[in-house]
Amino acid sequence: MSSEIRRIKSILIERNNRKMIGEQEMDCPDASKNLELNTINRNKSIEADYIKYGPLNVDEPGDYWENLAKHWDTTEKAAKKSLCGNCVAFDISPRMEECMPGVTSDEDGKLGYCWMHNFKCHSARTCYTWAKGGPITKDNVSHDWQSRK
Ligand code: SF4
Repeated sequence: MSSEIRRIKSILIERNNRKMIGEQEMDCPDASKNLELNTINRNKSIEADYIKYGPLNVDEPGDYWENLAKHWDTTEKAAKKSLCGNCVAFDISPRMEECMPGVTSDEDGKLGYCWMHNFKCHSARTCYTWAKGGPITKDNVSHDWQSRK
């Protein structure tokens, strides 16, 4: 069975389980469906001094990692291990995968939804508000983040 078929099967099983226990479906977050809103939120996250989402180009990061390491008072090597991909707010749950626009992975990683700053972020990037504990891989945890927004 291809990984895509397995993924779809797991989404359908998860959805059916939710219905069986009476759990409500939640809509996709607004920014995941609205390109303009997503872009506004992403750009704010790039520009805000307390967020600094980046690097823009993971292959040409400029001094991004050096600055991040200075911000965290750590080494560049350690800073590069703190990515959206393992951030507590990075949502790649089955329900969120359904909210993504088609294929969202590339050789560097994949897109997920950032519940801290409300936009689709990439697992190979990061920001100054990164927090350990992710990613979010379960629908019930994703629902919990959404219900607290
Ligand atoms: S997922 Fe985490 S590291 Fe990535 S932009 Fe959101 S808060 Fe920052």
